Amino acid sequence: MKIYKAYKFRLYPTNDQRGFINRTLGCKRFVYNYYLNYLKDNNGINRFDLHKDLPKLKEENEFLKEVDSCALRCSIFDLEDGFNNFFAKRSGYPRFKSKFARQSYRTSCIRSTYKGKEYSNIEVDLLTRFIKLPKLGKVKIRGYRDKERIEGKIVNATISRDATNKYYVSVLVEEELLVEKVTPTSIVGIDLGIKDLVVTSDGIKYGNDKVLMKYEKRLKRLQRKLSRQVKGSKNYLKTKEKIARIHTKIKNYRKHYLNNIANEIVDEHDIIVTESLKVADMFKDKKKAFNKSLSDAAVSKLRSLIEWKCKINGKFYYKINTYYPSSQICSHCGYKNSEIKDLSIREYDCPKCGVHNDRDINASLNILVEGLKLHYNLVSLV
Ligand SMILES: [Zn+2]
Repeated sequence: MKIYKAYKFRLYPTNDQRGFINRTLGCKRFVYNYYLNYLKDNNGINRFDLHKDLPKLKEENEFLKEVDSCALRCSIFDLEDGFNNFFAKRSGYPRFKSKFARQSYRTSCIRSTYKGKEYSNIEVDLLTRFIKLPKLGKVKIRGYRDKERIEGKIVNATISRDATNKYYVSVLVEEELLVEKVTPTSIVGIDLGIKDLVVTSDGIKYGNDKVLMKYEKRLKRLQRKLSRQVKGSKNYLKTKEKIARIHTKIKNYRKHYLNNIANEIVDEHDIIVTESLKVADMFKDKKKAFNKSLSDAAVSKLRSLIEWKCKINGKFYYKINTYYPSSQICSHCGYKNSEIKDLSIREYDCPKCGVHNDRDINASLNILVEGLKLHYNLVSLV
């Protein structure tokens, strides 16, 4: 099985290198904004036309020739992604890129052989802690201290600068992985929700994390502060930088938190079952709808983490379609209790068999049972 892994390092460019990265980002932004503007009055133009047009743009603007041409092509891909997301209603109409947000450019790895020796334009040396990058040469890196080398084939590298002016490189590597399927001895059903992020059929709940909530509170306070300050003033910019820093913290912490949950679940179980989509729990007020969109992002991220970890560890992952409302059916006797539609009911006694059900644990047990059916049907087919 081929798998792709990303290794992210902090980059420590010299002044010259930093200047070059900034120029590349500037050129990439220039190309992006140029074509965004260009597309405004040219309907029906696709990226192939843009790629064909790029050499002409470079002729007209000599400074574009200086930088990594991969990075310029990359802005056309970004633009295309932007429009795809817009048409799929995942985001708004693509906007012009500003100088101050996080920016990145990608460059592909090109290999060649000369007199029996292999050369590559991207190389990572974890012993001397340097990365070789096209046009930049050797740049100092930090990260992965426990590794001696990166196994596998480097595909590309993404160089980025965040809003606080730190530089990073993410190296995408293709690895060949031999995975043997485990003989399952343990199964778990998982209810992914809003009140608690995760409820397992073992009765374990992962709620909203306290540290995360603390950060979010601080973020809200700073945003309120920013709205009172004079736009463009020194203090305004200071607050803005603090906000950018806390956004990064939240992003990193959330990633770490979701990873931990997925690790715990996949370490302890061999068959893991989740719902593919949440049965519509409707929210009327806006605040709840907003929280839901946040948790939706977390839920789908977590689902893909679990799926991925199962895949590389030879475990089984099933997504079930809950065409029936998993929380309304008693996992003990199968009785459907429509009163449970009311989301405020967290626990209840089943009117038919009398078992005391916790709403979410009951739902995860139902998910487990559906997954079990799926697993043994599939296995018997083989
Ligand atoms: Zn019952």
